[in-house]
Amino acid sequence: MTGASNLYPTRELQARDAAHHIHPFTDTKSLNAEGSRIITGAKGVWLTDSDGNRYLDGMAGLWCCQVGHGRDEIADAVSQQMRELDYYNTFFKTSHPPVIALSEKLAELSPPQFNRVFFTSSGSEANDTVFRMVRTYWDRMGKPDRKIIIGRWNGYHGSTLAGTSLGGMKGMHEQGDLPVPGVRHIAQPYWFGEGGDMSPDEFGIWAARELEREIDAAGADKVAAFIAEPIQGAGGVIIPPDTYWPEVARICKERDILLVADEVICGFGRLGTWFGSQYYGFEPDLMPIAKGLSSGYLPIGGVLVSDRVGAAFVDKDGDFNHGYTYSGHPACCAAALANLEIMQREKLVERVADDIGPYLQARWKALGDHPLVGEARMVGLVGALELVPVKGDRSRTFENVGTVGNLCRDLSFDNGLVMRAVRDSMIISPPLVLTHEEADELVARAHKTLDQTYAALKRDGRIAA
Ligand code: PMP
Repeated sequence: MTGASNLYPTRELQARDAAHHIHPFTDTKSLNAEGSRIITGAKGVWLTDSDGNRYLDGMAGLWCCQVGHGRDEIADAVSQQMRELDYYNTFFKTSHPPVIALSEKLAELSPPQFNRVFFTSSGSEANDTVFRMVRTYWDRMGKPDRKIIIGRWNGYHGSTLAGTSLGGMKGMHEQGDLPVPGVRHIAQPYWFGEGGDMSPDEFGIWAARELEREIDAAGADKVAAFIAEPIQGAGGVIIPPDTYWPEVARICKERDILLVADEVICGFGRLGTWFGSQYYGFEPDLMPIAKGLSSGYLPIGGVLVSDRVGAAFVDKDGDFNHGYTYSGHPACCAAALANLEIMQREKLVERVADDIGPYLQARWKALGDHPLVGEARMVGLVGALELVPVKGDRSRTFENVGTVGNLCRDLSFDNGLVMRAVRDSMIISPPLVLTHEEADELVARAHKTLDQTYAALKRDGRIAA
């Protein structure tokens, strides 16, 4: 047992972890040989491990901790809610004050076409809900042939069957024989890696028209929906060219295809707008949400349902045979409400748009001058550095893709900064409360890490000396 203060030596915790705990997305055998890093505390943007080391949490946990760690206000709200009504379901004609208040709050914060929400405990469950909802929508609209859902290669929509299927991670599809039938994938708008000789704007149009080609090949009357993240997060912070989203929106509108913006990462201020689709100026029909909704303090997600889709569920007779024991869990709703109240009171979304966003972006983009960096990109407070063997040549990648990224990530940890590696790019998504001084610290540590990675690669002959 560990309480608020850790009393156990790191080695002992690692041994118990290795003996009994299977970690997500992990090679358990090699982790157990190495030993996990044990995080014991967090405050603001800082994490502490079991040896007392401090790390700047450049990933806001897992893209979720918008308001920073250790907010008493959220802990108090949850504690109070648990004492009043710990749990009750929302299935059998019952409801409760926190779920009502949060539903109303989400309708207020989201774009005008969204007035309803279906709650889940995670982003994956939100996308499983999307999957069943879009197919049921078309059934109820008298078009049961509209069943195909189109996603994108290298998109991420979660780890459940529908989430994995809608996502385009081949390594995930291989495990469990996925995707399920009726899901197709198109190219991603990843100009740096896949744009070839096209300009970013030309490539954005090309990538959007992949959707048009796929829909027209399948027959528009067979296609239910297109799902995509406004900016792909887990795929490596793929920021689409400006031409991409307007063209996608046009294609969906002309063919009457439901447009699903997966806002699990981009929602709740990450891009300096409440939702990522607002940053890009398009109007989705459904928006799966999670993460920043509660800043990760308790697990809660959901699907924001537009009036168009809602009409098929609210104005028509018949049960929607779908739901989770913890849909609208009172304590999780209380955490989300307290979190959103902090975000509004401290104007965190505006802060990302006007203050800390531009401040960090300028400094992050300057890392693009480093000899190891092919591109430094950032929107709001989510960014990436593409590590390359030959600066200025986008066509060249390192051999054994991923090894340089992992090396850089490990060095970054040693330098007290959490950056995540995706292939050979480094990504960050810090809490929205990051101060200017902390932003300077983040960039200084990233710079040092790049220098050390570069030196190690030269030493090993993986980069020309
Ligand atoms: N969608 C997106 C865009 C995500 O980034 C994630 C999680 N990283 C999910 C869905 C799945 O969310 P969860 O892990 O809460 O199931």
